[in-house]
Amino acid sequence: MQSDLTAQPINPLPPFDLSALHAEIRQKFAAAERIALAAHIRPDGDAVGSLLGLGLALQAKGKQVQMILLDGVPGNLRYLYGSQQIRRKLPEEADLYVTVDSSELARIGGVFGERKPDIQIDHHITNTLFANTNFVIGDAVATCAILAEYLPEWGLEFDQNIAAALLTGILTDTIGFRTSNMTPAALHLAAKMMEHGANLPDLYAQSLTSKTYEAVRYWAMGLDKIQREDGLVWTSLSLADRQKAEYPGNDDADLVNVLSSIDSKVAVIFVEQKADRVKISWRAKLGCDVSQIALQFGGGGHAAAAGAEVNGSLESVQERVIQATCAFLAALQPETSDSQPQ
Ligand code: 5GP
Ligand code: MN
Repeated sequence: MQSDLTAQPINPLPPFDLSALHAEIRQKFAAAERIALAAHIRPDGDAVGSLLGLGLALQAKGKQVQMILLDGVPGNLRYLYGSQQIRRKLPEEADLYVTVDSSELARIGGVFGERKPDIQIDHHITNTLFANTNFVIGDAVATCAILAEYLPEWGLEFDQNIAAALLTGILTDTIGFRTSNMTPAALHLAAKMMEHGANLPDLYAQSLTSKTYEAVRYWAMGLDKIQREDGLVWTSLSLADRQKAEYPGNDDADLVNVLSSIDSKVAVIFVEQKADRVKISWRAKLGCDVSQIALQFGGGGHAAAAGAEVNGSLESVQERVIQATCAFLAALQPETSDSQPQ
C-alpha cells in the first residue's frame, strides 16, 4: 500500500515516518518471489553498487532477482562480484519492480516499460517521487549509504560481496570521502562495510584512483582546452578526442573530478555523445547548488554534483551552458561565511 507520507518534500531531512516506510518495504520484499531491479543510464559506482548490494542481499534470501542496466556495467566496475549477472534488458516479468539511485523514471532508460515501480531507493534532491513507495533521503551521501544503513530493517543481511558493492558506491559518490556533504554517519557506514569484509584500499584504488593509459590520454586532450572565467572552469571532450585517445567509454573518464580540484567555484565538462548531443557535468564547491542549473537543462542531481544531456553541437551547448552558469553564479549572494560543512 502506498504511504501518503511519501508525497512530502524530501530535503533536507526525511520528513516521512521512517518506521512505516520500513514496514512497507520489508513486507513488499517478503511477499515477492521474482524481483526486477534497475538503476540509471550511464551508471556510476553508486548505481552499480546499489544495484548489486540490494540484488545480492535479496538473492541471499532466496529471491529470483533480475538486475538491469540499460548501458551495462562500465569496465572499471566489473571487478564487483555479481556484475556479470547484470543484463541490459528485462528478460522476463517480475512480481516487484524496484529502482535504485535514479532521480526520475526516465533515468532508467525505459527498461521497466510503462510500469510504475513499486519501490525506489534514492538520494537525489531533485527526485520526482515516481514510485509507489519512495524511500528518498536527500542528504544521504549515496544510495549505497542508505542501503548500508537500512538493509537490516528490510529483513536483509550483509556479506563481504554486498559490503564491497556498497562501499564502492559510498566511495565513488563522495570521491573518496571528500565531498562537502560528508558526515560522521557516512564514515561510520563505510566502517561498518569494512567490518563486513569490504577491502577499503583495494576498492579505493579500483573504483577511484586506478586509470587506464587511454583514459589519461583522453584527460590530456580535455586539459589542453581548459578555460576559466569568473569562478568557473570548464573544458570539453569531443568524439574526435575519444577516438584519438582510443578511450572506449562515452563518459569523461572522471576528468571532472580533476577540474573540480582547481580553485574555482564551479567546474563544468562537456562530453560529445554524437554529432548533436552533449553530456554536461557540473561540480560545485559548498554554497552553490548546481542541481538548479542542471534542472534548467532538463537534468538533475545534487547541490555539489549535477548533470544533464542536451541536444545541440558541442560548441552551441557549451556557449549556452557557460552563459547560464555564469549568470547563475553572478546572481548568487556575495561571499558568505558558510564555509563549514554541515
Ligand atoms: P555526472 O555528472 O557524474 O553524470 O552526475 C552527477 C550527478 O547528477 C549524479 O547524481 C547523476 O545521477 C546526476 N545526473 C547526471 N546526469 C543527469 C541527467 O541527465 N538527469 C538527471 N536527472 N540527473 C543527472
Ligand atoms: Mn548516487
